[in-house]
Amino acid sequence: MHEWALAEAVITAASQYAEKEGLKEVKEVGIKVGELQQIELDILEFALSQLKPASFKDAKFRITIEKAELKCRVCEHKWLFNQQKLDKNTAEAIHFVPEIAHTYIKCPKCGSPDFEILEGRGMWLESIKGVK
Ligand SMILES: [Zn+2]
Repeated sequence: MHEWALAEAVITAASQYAEKEGLKEVKEVGIKVGELQQIELDILEFALSQLKPASFKDAKFRITIEKAELKCRVCEHKWLFNQQKLDKNTAEAIHFVPEIAHTYIKCPKCGSPDFEILEGRGMWLESIKGVK
């Protein structure tokens, strides 16, 4: 259900930006979603279409996924999250609690579970296009 909360946050931020820039109509909103956020994009898109205000009537939402990059704190090896195979239950667990990732993911080089997430968390506005 957090897709609805995220969609609301996107609409709020985009509206504020449009207002600040004096945009009468918003045509395109670029959104970036971190891979570890594991959002149901269908639900997110539906929520956005339901929540958008009048000035967003013709707006397209362009959603791109940012790959998650992890870095081992022990050997400093960097790797991409999607190179590791996780079973479905693990993926579900990470969906709900990104911090739980530390229990399941280990450095592919030295096996240490002590890593940091460099990229791939959260969700943010990338661009907004519109007409003044
Ligand atoms: Zn390592």
